[in-house]
Formats: sequence, C-alpha cells, structure tokens
Amino acid sequence: MFHRALQGFIEVVCGSMFSGKTEELVRRCKRAQIGRQKVQVFKPRIDDRYSKDHVQSHDANRLPSIAVDNSRQILDLVDDNTRVVGIDEAQFFDDGVVEVANKLAYRGMRVIVAGLDMDFRGQPFGPMPKLLAVAEAVTKLSAVCVVCGSPASRTQRTVGNLEPNSTVAVGAKEMYEARCRFCHEPETHGQK
Ligand code: ADP
Ligand code: MG
Ligand code: ZN
Repeated sequence: MFHRALQGFIEVVCGSMFSGKTEELVRRCKRAQIGRQKVQVFKPRIDDRYSKDHVQSHDANRLPSIAVDNSRQILDLVDDNTRVVGIDEAQFFDDGVVEVANKLAYRGMRVIVAGLDMDFRGQPFGPMPKLLAVAEAVTKLSAVCVVCGSPASRTQRTVGNLEPNSTVAVGAKEMYEARCRFCHEPETHGQK
C-alpha cells in the first residue's frame, strides 16, 4: 500500500483590515483546488458582512464557506478526505480554535488561518496570539494607510457610540479604515 507521510501544518495570515488576508486565503485555497485537493473553508457566523455561505474579500474575490457558531463545529464538519482547511476571521473564534487547528494539523491537514492580529485599539485580538505562536508559518500583511500612504498595520474605528461592550463590531468600509502606527488613534474614533 502506498504510504504518505503526514504533512499537516498551520499557516497564519494576519494583518489589519484591508490588508488582503481574505484575498490571500482565497488565493491559497484556489491553488490547492487546482492541485485537486479538497478544500473546506470556515468562518464564524458573526461575520455576515457580505454573505453567509462565502468568504469574500473587499474586492469581491470569493470562495464557498461554512458558517459555524464555535470552533468545535469545525472539527465536526471537516471531512476525512479534506486536505486543506481554511479559517477566515479567526479572531472572532473562542480560544478552542487553537486546539482545533492543532488537531487538524496532526491529522495531516494543511490549516490556513486568516485573522486580524490587533483589534481597533491596537491590542492582540482573541485567539490570534496563540495561533501565531503554534503556526509553522506566519504571513503578516499590510494595508495602505488612508491618512499618509505608508504601509498600514492598524485598524482605525471611524464611528463612535457602538454598544458599550463591543470590541466586536463587524463592519466594513463605513466603520473602519487602515492606518499606520503613527496615524492610528486608538483612543478616539479618528475624527480630527
Ligand atoms: P482583509 O481580509 O485583510 O480585510 P481583503 O482581502 O478583504 O482584506 O481586501 C483587500 C483589498 O481591499 C485590497 O486588495 C484592496 O483592493 C482593498 N482595499 C481597500 N482599502 C484598502 C487600503 N486602505 N489598503 C489596502 N487595500 C485596500
Ligand atoms: Mg477578510
Ligand atoms: Zn499613516
């Protein structure tokens, strides 16, 4: 019988909003599909900005995806013959997503995780620090700062008065913009 060595590993793609994380996730997954590998992409149900059954980048590149309520459901829904598991918006998952990614990698799957490394306050976001720590490969992307044009590492929230306890305010262009370290204003909502 043909024996293939297990080759599972975790890749993390992180960066600010608009840095091209979803684009990169979609690109990697589509290349795997060209190689006839079965791909499944998951995202937290909370991220329904564009579509409940696709991951879609800001420039409309998209891939079918499965919306789940928690990280545990990913394990339940991954098929045995899947070779590549994509997880978008990983920052919105519970910490259990770290164990889920590790388990899938130990099963020999390639796990591609995309998510915001920092929230709009510039603080590490949810399980992302742990995912970055356990990954074999990390790609940190930058957007373009809309104030000065430098590479942008941060996400500026541009609207105030959201519900008090919401680090999680899912939204796109109308609520957030990409900024560099020096133009980012974590304590305000960016109106000068
Ligand atoms: P992410 O998933 O990281 O939020 P996407 O992959 O959805 O990013 O979108 C990236 C695309 O967003 C870019 O290719 C570009 O077309 C668009 N875009 C809009 N604003 C910016 C910006 N300030 N910097 C870079 N790209 C931007
Ligand atoms: Mg995205
Ligand atoms: Zn700037």
